[in-house]
Amino acid sequence: MTITHNLGFPRIGVQRELKRAVEAYWAGNLDQAALEEQGKALRVRHWQIQAQSGVRYVPVGDFAWYDHILAWSTLLGAVPARFGQPEDEPVSLDTLFRMGRGRAPTGTPAAACEMTKWFDTNYHYIVPELVPKQHFRIARSDLFDQVAEAQHAGHEVKPVIPGPLTWLWLGKGDAFAQGAADEAKLSLLEQLLPVYQEVLHRLAAQGVEWVQIDEPILVLDLPEAWREAFRKAYAALCQRGPAVMLATYFGGLGDNIDVLKDLPVQGVHVDLVRAPEQLDAVAAALKPDQILSLGVIDGRNIWRADLDVLSERIEPLRKARGDALWLAPSCSLLHVPVDLEAETALDQELRSWLSFATQKLDELSLLAAAVDQRREPGIIEALAAQREALRTRRNSTRIHNAAVQRRMQAIDTLSRERSPFAARIALQQKRLGLPSYPTTTIGSFPQTAEIRKTRRDWKQGALSDAAYEKAMQSEIEQVIRFQEKIGLDVLVHGEPERNDMVEYFGELLGGFAFTQNGWVQSYGSRCVKPPVIFGDVARPAPMTVAWSSYAQSLTERPVKGMLTGPVTILQWSFVRDDQPRSATCRQLALALRDEVNDLEAAGIAVIQIDEPAFREGLPLRKSDWQPYLDWAVDCFRLSTSGVRDDTQIHTHMCYSEFNDIIKAIAAMDADVITIETSRSNMELLDAFEQFRYPNDIGPGVYDIHSPNIPALDWMVGLMKKAAARLPAERLWVNPDCGLKTRGWPETEAALSAMVKAAQTLRYT
Ligand code: GLN
Ligand code: ZN
Repeated sequence: MTITHNLGFPRIGVQRELKRAVEAYWAGNLDQAALEEQGKALRVRHWQIQAQSGVRYVPVGDFAWYDHILAWSTLLGAVPARFGQPEDEPVSLDTLFRMGRGRAPTGTPAAACEMTKWFDTNYHYIVPELVPKQHFRIARSDLFDQVAEAQHAGHEVKPVIPGPLTWLWLGKGDAFAQGAADEAKLSLLEQLLPVYQEVLHRLAAQGVEWVQIDEPILVLDLPEAWREAFRKAYAALCQRGPAVMLATYFGGLGDNIDVLKDLPVQGVHVDLVRAPEQLDAVAAALKPDQILSLGVIDGRNIWRADLDVLSERIEPLRKARGDALWLAPSCSLLHVPVDLEAETALDQELRSWLSFATQKLDELSLLAAAVDQRREPGIIEALAAQREALRTRRNSTRIHNAAVQRRMQAIDTLSRERSPFAARIALQQKRLGLPSYPTTTIGSFPQTAEIRKTRRDWKQGALSDAAYEKAMQSEIEQVIRFQEKIGLDVLVHGEPERNDMVEYFGELLGGFAFTQNGWVQSYGSRCVKPPVIFGDVARPAPMTVAWSSYAQSLTERPVKGMLTGPVTILQWSFVRDDQPRSATCRQLALALRDEVNDLEAAGIAVIQIDEPAFREGLPLRKSDWQPYLDWAVDCFRLSTSGVRDDTQIHTHMCYSEFNDIIKAIAAMDADVITIETSRSNMELLDAFEQFRYPNDIGPGVYDIHSPNIPALDWMVGLMKKAAARLPAERLWVNPDCGLKTRGWPETEAALSAMVKAAQTLRYT
C-alpha cells in the first residue's frame, strides 16, 4: 500500500481552543498546568484525526505555543541576552512567551523579538536573533516529551523540525559586522550541527524511524555558499540516527535540484501543487532507494483535489519506484482551516467543493487507494462522490457569470491611461485648493466598543437597518466634525461600517463566500478567517457610495472615498484555483473600477485605493517577479483609470521595502501614495529619492502601532528629512496607517500635533 504522511497539522484547534487557552494563561485566568493539559488534549485530538485518516506517520513538533520557529529557537537555547536566560537552565514557557510578545505572567518584560511573514504565506514567525559566537544547546524538552506522548497514544511518529540552514537563513544577525551578516550567519552552522546531531540521537533513542527536516529555503534563489553548506550539513545529519526526510515546499527546487543530487538524505519531499513541472527532474535526481514524497494535495488552499488526474500521474511513478514513493499534502496544513464539518451555514453545493485540513487527509488516503487500484465499494463510492463534486463545481452557474465574462473578453479595450501627472495635478489643485504640505489620514478612526457592538447587533438582526444607518451616520458626523475642528485638509469618513478591509468588500461582491470557523493562524494567538472567492467577481450595487456621499454632504472640505485594492483583496482571500490568479484579480479590478467611477459621479473628488498587500504578493523567486508586477500594476490602473483628470487617486501601502519594486510603484501612477515610514526614520524614502519618484507622496510621520503621542518637533524633523530628498511641493503629511486600533484621546492629541507640524512646515 502506498504510504501517506502529513507535514504538519493546524495547531490552533477547530474552535480556536489554543488561542483561548494561551490568552487565558496570559491574562492570569489559567495556570500553567491547565494550559499544558489543554495543549496536550489538542495534540492528542489532532494526532487521532490524522491517524484515523490513514496517514502512516503523524507529525510531532508541528504543535507550538506561539510559533514553531520560536519553539525551535528556544529548544536550541537561542535566547537574546535581554531576556536574562541563565546559560545552564532550561528555557521556561514564560521566556518563550516573552520572546514572542514581550511579556508573560512571570519574568521581566522585554522588547519582543521581531516577527515577519513566513515565505509567501500570511503566517508570521518569530525571527531568530543571532549573535557572533552564538552558543547552542538543547534547552527545552517539549519535542521529546511530545514524541513520547504520541507514541504512548499509539502512533507511529515523524518529528518535524526546521532545518539548520532554513533556521539560520530566517534569522537576523544585527550584531554581526555590517554587510557580512549573511556569511556570518552561515558560519554559525559549525556550532549548530552538533546540537542537531544530539537532537537526532535522542530521537533515535526514543525509537523514531523518520525525522522530517524542513528546508523550504531550497525553493528560493540561494547564494552559492548556502547551497554548498547543504552538503556539509546533511553529511553530518545523516550519519546515524533516524532516516531524514528533507522537506521542501512553496515552490520548485529549480537550480537547487543540483544541491539535492549529492545529499545523503533518505527521502525528499517536493511541492507538486506549486511546481508540478519539477517532478521529472526531481525523480531523476534521486537514487532508486531514496524516498520521493509527492506533495499533491494543496496545503495552501481549500479546494477539493482532482484525484483522477493525480492518480493517473502518480501510477507510473509508483510502478517505477515501488515503496520509495510516498504521498502527502504539498506543505504543512497550518495554512488551511481545521475542519469543514464545523461549517454548518454553508450551502451543501459550495461545501461539497471545499476541503479543510481534516478533509485533505481523507482525500490523501483516497488518492493512495486509487493509486493502489483498490476496488472496495467504499472507495469506488468516495471517488465517485469526489468526481461529482468537481463536476458540479466546473459546471455551476454560480461560478460563471455571463456578464462578467463578457466584460473580461473586452477588458483590453478599457483604458489604463490617464493624462500625464503634471496635467492632472494642476487640475486637481485647482479643484481642491489645498495648502502646501496638505494633511490627511489613512482612513479608519478609532473603532470603539460601541461601534463594534452596533455592527454586531445589526448583523444579528437585533438592530434595524434604519437604526444602524443612523448610528453609523452619527459616528461619521462626529469624525468629520473632529477633523474640521483640528484643521485636517482632506477628510475621511472613518470606516466605522467596516470590521475588516477585505471582508467588508467581499460581503458586498458576488463570487465570495464566508465561513463561520475557517480560522487560520496568522501569528501567536491571532487568527484570520479569509473569505473564499469561488466564482466570477461581480458588483451588484455600489458598496461605499452612500457612506462617502453622506460624509461629503456634511462638509465643504474634500472627503476621500476609501476602497481596498484588487491585489490586497486577492492576497487575503482563498482564491479559486480554476483560473489564473491574475484573471480573478482583473475581475476584482473591474468591480472596483465601477465603484471608483460611481464615487466620482457622486461628487467625491479624492479616492484612495489601499494596497497594503501589494508587495506581499511578490513570488518567492526573483525571476517570477516581473510577470506578477505586470498584472498587479495593470489591475491597479484598471481600477483607477476610469476617472477624470481632476479626480485625485490615492493609494496606501504599509511597511514595505520599495527599493526593488519602485518602478512598479511608479507605474501604478497614483496621484498620491501614502506609506509607512516613521519607524524607518524616513529611510524607506531612499528608493523614491533615487528613482526621482514623480508623483505626490505622504511619508507617514508617526507610528500608529504605538499609543505614544508623537512630538511636534519630531514630526517636523521627519518631514524636513523627507523634503531634503523629495520636492517639498510633492509632500503630504499623514500618519503611517489607519487609526482603528487606537483610542480617541491619543488620536486627538496625535493628529492635532500633526496638523500643527504641517502648519509649522508651511510657514518656515
Ligand atoms: N484604510 C485602511 C485603514 O485606515 C488601511 C488599512 C491598512 O493599510 N492596513 O484602516
Ligand atoms: Zn496601512
